[in-house]
Amino acid sequence: MEMWDVFFSFEVSTSRNPQQCLQVRAQVEIRSRIITAFGSPEAVIEHMAEWSRSKGLDTSRVYEYFRPKRAKQPWQTVIWKAFIPPKYSFILWLGLRGRLSTRERLMFLQEDSSCSLCINTQETAKHLFFECPFSNLVWTNIRQWLGIHRRMSTLLSAVKWLIKEKTRSSVQNKARLIALACTVYSLWRHRNEVIF
Ligand SMILES: [Zn+2]
Repeated sequence: MEMWDVFFSFEVSTSRNPQQCLQVRAQVEIRSRIITAFGSPEAVIEHMAEWSRSKGLDTSRVYEYFRPKRAKQPWQTVIWKAFIPPKYSFILWLGLRGRLSTRERLMFLQEDSSCSLCINTQETAKHLFFECPFSNLVWTNIRQWLGIHRRMSTLLSAVKWLIKEKTRSSVQNKARLIALACTVYSLWRHRNEVIF
């Protein structure tokens, strides 16, 4: 029996076995979704032929087809460089993905959510890294040192700016990237030392 014969032979089970009944219902539901997604049973057969090998369906091809694919963000290739220490890149990567455990993100624990450095306002990543008076002072010195005139307000806009405003000097471009990653890492580490 061809695999698409099997695929189209599922019928809502009248079996008394509840487990089997559920399984077949799920298969029927998946089949109808696939047919809707491809437009017709013929289109499904065509794709199944593409995903097949002599021994049957190649699940890795099916997975690759259905796997959600996100467009690669430009900053992903910029922050992982040999000249940036991996621990700096890692914290910057977490920050860019909004994955650092700032107190705002831990509010569900019903703990104090105020900024660990200034205690003035809620500790969001935006506040902690840029708006906080302590961080602002650090950035002012870093920007002066590297000749960056623009004020930075979020990690994403800072990285985008560095990508867009590359100078002719590759050394300076590298220094700016290292400075960003190092400053973010140091601020995060300082914040953790204050808390713990
Ligand atoms: Zn603060």
